[in-house]
Amino acid sequence: MTLQTRIHASPRSPTVLVAGGAGFIGSHLCDALLQRGSMVICLDNLFTGTTDNIRPLLNHPNFRFIEHDVRDRIEIEGEIDRIYSLACPASPRHYQVDPVATMKTCVLGSINLLELARQKGSRILQASTSEVYGDPEVHPQPESYLGNVNPIGPRACYDEGKRAAETLMFDYRRMHGTEIKVARIFNTYGPRMLENDGRVVSNFIVQALRGEPITIYGQGTQTRSFCFVDDLVRGLQLLMESPASVSGPCNLGNPHEVTIEAIAREVLACTESASPLRFEPLPKDDPRRRKPVIDAAEKILGWRPKVALKDGLQATIAYFALRLAGEPPTLVP
Ligand code: NAD
Ligand code: UDP
Repeated sequence: MTLQTRIHASPRSPTVLVAGGAGFIGSHLCDALLQRGSMVICLDNLFTGTTDNIRPLLNHPNFRFIEHDVRDRIEIEGEIDRIYSLACPASPRHYQVDPVATMKTCVLGSINLLELARQKGSRILQASTSEVYGDPEVHPQPESYLGNVNPIGPRACYDEGKRAAETLMFDYRRMHGTEIKVARIFNTYGPRMLENDGRVVSNFIVQALRGEPITIYGQGTQTRSFCFVDDLVRGLQLLMESPASVSGPCNLGNPHEVTIEAIAREVLACTESASPLRFEPLPKDDPRRRKPVIDAAEKILGWRPKVALKDGLQATIAYFALRLAGEPPTLVP
């Protein structure tokens, strides 16, 4: 399928395509880009994203929404200066529904966006992931660590798909001189996560607010490092606007490492919930620990996260409290 849309950009307003812009991170990125005066084209097939996330933007004169699947060829009229490649389900619950579709989204989607970048002379940023490190044998994880991914397990469609997307980025740079940026994003949380998303922060908050048992997989001793979405979106933009010689990969995440049980207890304290903890089986290939080394982001981008876990959780809890009370996502701060 091909599609046509025309964006009238003044010479001073860069036109930015956000693939996956109706999702959790993508919608916050669209907000931030519009605030800095960009023309924003949001392209999304609404698999895990929703127009609720971008509803107030739909009437913005600098915003266009295109419903489209990145697995299909992308044709857009006019100039495009920047492309953010975020279109991919990120939660195991969603990316495992149809693993072949996930792999296609990573591979065909990257090729289609890279071809668009090549045709338009755009700079492109790939949202990669800490999952490229798999179940890491090096801790914490620097960008130089090549990872420990099981290529045939249930997480492989995503982990290997993202590794292939990184490969394609660097091959286009070598073959065509495409200006690329690769961000390795660690666990990110905040308002506009889906309440049925299956990821740990949204699960625990929704369970605590409903008074349901908090489902801890395994013993809860596995660790993650959680970054608030505002910090992440700032990091993505800094990486995108970094000098052309900087391609990454660049870790973007919060180095504050916590166990899953500690997150459960923090959510219970913040919500003043009496929900009991319920221990359930650990999913296959679940990484035991994860913590980014962010020296490169600090040195090259001057970036480090600012939002403390407690503050980020409070903001996310406030969001879900209103959502569960029936408020639409965009009316919630
Ligand atoms: P999300 O699921 O909320 O957003 C993904 C968006 O992409 C959704 O709007 C979805 O509808 C869209 N999409 C999915 N497949 C598509 C396709 N084939 N064509 C067009 N659109 C499609 O997830 P998110 O948490 O906002 O993640 C955004 C990106 O960041 C993803 O690429 C993800 O892999 C990456 N990432 C996220 C995290 C995290 O913790 N949230 C961590 C590492 C990497
Ligand atoms: N997890 C959990 N209970 C849940 C959801 C997730 O204990 O209700 C665990 C999961 O097994 C993993 C961690 O929390 O160890 C983070 O899971 P998530 O899916 O959020 O992110 P990812 O595993 O992709 O880093």
